[in-house]
Amino acid sequence: MAKPDFWKNNKRYYDLKSYWRNLFGCTVHKLQIDAGFTCPNRDGRVASGGCIYCDGRGSNLRRKGALPDVSEQIASGKKYYAASASKYIAYFQTFTNTYASVDKLRTLYDEALAEKDIIGLSIGTRPDCLETEVMELLSGYAKKYHVWVELGLQSIHDKTLQLINRGHNSKQFLDAVNALAAHGLNICVHIIIGLPGESDKDVMETGKILATLPVQGIKIHSLLALEGTALGDMYKKGALTMISREKYAELAASVLEVLPPQMVIQRLTADGYRDIFLAPSWAMNKLNVLNTINKELERRNSYQGIYYKGQE
Ligand code: SF4
Repeated sequence: MAKPDFWKNNKRYYDLKSYWRNLFGCTVHKLQIDAGFTCPNRDGRVASGGCIYCDGRGSNLRRKGALPDVSEQIASGKKYYAASASKYIAYFQTFTNTYASVDKLRTLYDEALAEKDIIGLSIGTRPDCLETEVMELLSGYAKKYHVWVELGLQSIHDKTLQLINRGHNSKQFLDAVNALAAHGLNICVHIIIGLPGESDKDVMETGKILATLPVQGIKIHSLLALEGTALGDMYKKGALTMISREKYAELAASVLEVLPPQMVIQRLTADGYRDIFLAPSWAMNKLNVLNTINKELERRNSYQGIYYKGQE
């Protein structure tokens, strides 16, 4: 299969910027919002302590004191991008952004959508925190706006989900994907490469299964060990070997090769955390990580979807 023309980019994968330019004919940015949510995997409703890699601090904004309103956060986000963007997606990012009553969610999402040039929502959440009423609410917005639900998964393997204390299993994830798809919502799944105990085959199985699902986007990043997390403690005790940059690039490229060519690659690197960062040191240089993945694809003369087998 040849590289698809519809990407209209010079990359070896279908990046988010190109997707939005193709869809809306302009530059679109996501504005990160911390609306003050918590997480059922941290507060004891599902589990306590959270995922073993989660630092539990929330956004930088939250650490500075009382959170500004959603509209204020949108206004300051717009200032940051003012020179380059003409449209924006309100990205409810911090913790579990469906973990509240439908009335409260509606108020928060409405506040975002009322702002000028906000053309949609991206809602970060967990597979076990999507009541039918919430999906109906989002599905209602999707009639008029561009709406994504971002689902944390990390691995399709239950042994790994247990080990990293995700608090849900792969069946709950698959059920959530099917329910979201039935509500006509765009789904972006987050996965991590380099999780403890995972073989290359395990990583590829996660990618191959996602390729068969009604999933329109993916975020891939390497495992990070952070100070103050259970995973960070494992790393400091020498109980954890972090993946190398070359191995990460190799596996990320292999996952890209099996994904559908139309799946939007929303991220290939990990974000932030400089003040509590432990390892792997290479992950902090995002540009270098992207270059390494690109070089790996170039070396293989390959690109996203080259080995995609189609929906089964
Ligand atoms: S689901 Fe997200 S917010 Fe909740 S514990 Fe895991 S990483 Fe942290």
